[in-house]
Amino acid sequence: MNASLPGFPFFHYHQDQLYLEQVDIAALAAQYGTPLYVYSKAALLHAVSSYQQALAHTPSHLVCYAVKANSSLAILQTLAQAGCGFDIVSGGELQRVLTAGAKANTVVFSGVGKTRAEMHQALKAGIKCFNVESLQELDVLASVAKEAGTQAPVSLRINPDVDAKTHPYISTGLENNKFGIAYKQALAAYQHAASLPDLRIVGIDCHIGSQITEASPYLDTVNRLLALIQQIESHGIHLEHIDLGGGLGITYHDETPPTPTNLYQPLIERLHAHGLQSRELLVEPGRSIVGNAGALITQVLYLKPGAHKNFCIVDAAMNDLARPAMYEAYHEIVELKRHTDLPAAPYDVVGPVCESSDWLGYDRQLRVQAGDFLAVLSAGAYGMTMSSNYNSRTRAAEILVDGKSVHLIRKRETVTDLYAHEQLLP
Ligand SMILES: *Cc1c(COP(=O)(O)O)cnc(C)c1O
Repeated sequence: MNASLPGFPFFHYHQDQLYLEQVDIAALAAQYGTPLYVYSKAALLHAVSSYQQALAHTPSHLVCYAVKANSSLAILQTLAQAGCGFDIVSGGELQRVLTAGAKANTVVFSGVGKTRAEMHQALKAGIKCFNVESLQELDVLASVAKEAGTQAPVSLRINPDVDAKTHPYISTGLENNKFGIAYKQALAAYQHAASLPDLRIVGIDCHIGSQITEASPYLDTVNRLLALIQQIESHGIHLEHIDLGGGLGITYHDETPPTPTNLYQPLIERLHAHGLQSRELLVEPGRSIVGNAGALITQVLYLKPGAHKNFCIVDAAMNDLARPAMYEAYHEIVELKRHTDLPAAPYDVVGPVCESSDWLGYDRQLRVQAGDFLAVLSAGAYGMTMSSNYNSRTRAAEILVDGKSVHLIRKRETVTDLYAHEQLLP
């Protein structure tokens, strides 16, 4: 039978086998082994173009992909070629995006704990701006810029104190979060920045959280920012760009987040109403670019009936995909081969790691037997980048599918890779 997967348009069943674009995923699992991350290039490009279309009517804009969602070089390369800039949170991410072919002047640098070394590295590269998150950071950045004999471009990350209505661990725009400069201190922070000759103020920035599935927190944020921008500019400080951050959610289960166009249209109208339509508009999406472009493929090792529930023990674990263990996140889990002859039964899908939090899905109706493959969907974002080597497990290989073509973009780690930097005692 052929069927699409509602919510996951780049995956479909063809003769009861799950395909990504035009590639039979079971063939990839057989060739490259499991656990295996697979991504669709068409899905990445579709997501980028939906942002670019949403911003098309602004005079200038830049989609700065948030690298921490998925930082594999070939993914960054694909996004750079599609016209994305990048939002980075470390010197390591800067080196990655430059290696992948990004232009430094499309890179914005976020994060509450930038080191002097990272500031030097980013100044030398010539990034677009630093999203500064505290008053002390302003002073340190000014001193680093002075040492480097240059001016540092800065945008202040303002904490608008709005509730993003998402999981507390991924909410960042409330007053008691560690992120950003408090709304009430923002004007004073801008005046301080303006007094430092080694800084050049270029913009204003915010980012209120992640997996946001409603437009209203963004509208609240923009309303708060607009009032602030008017105050700041009335003090003679000009802002070239407005960065609305990232955070748009995706469908994991039954969420129906707004499209970028539906989200940004009313926000852009608000900018118009305040005469700010000529400013460059930046956005920093991560999850909504890569999340549903990828899946984690795993093989069923054992079926284990229990007193109260059945376990489906698979070869992928919390070290490969941490989100369920970390945030109790839901990921859809589907069979690569649809058995019509097996009865469906409820299973807890769990990994081999020695932790009770090592689960991928609870109470899932599956038609499976040992040796079958499963796809854990929506795993493109915060999957590979959060993976670890816990239990001395080697990290998965990664594949990028492009139509019928298959590219191995990361080889599976070997155990000797894991201890390459370790030394025995003499
Ligand atoms: C993580 C992060 C993003 C991206 O968030 P998503 O939810 O993946 O879109 C954007 N900006 C900043 C500053 C971030 O920390």
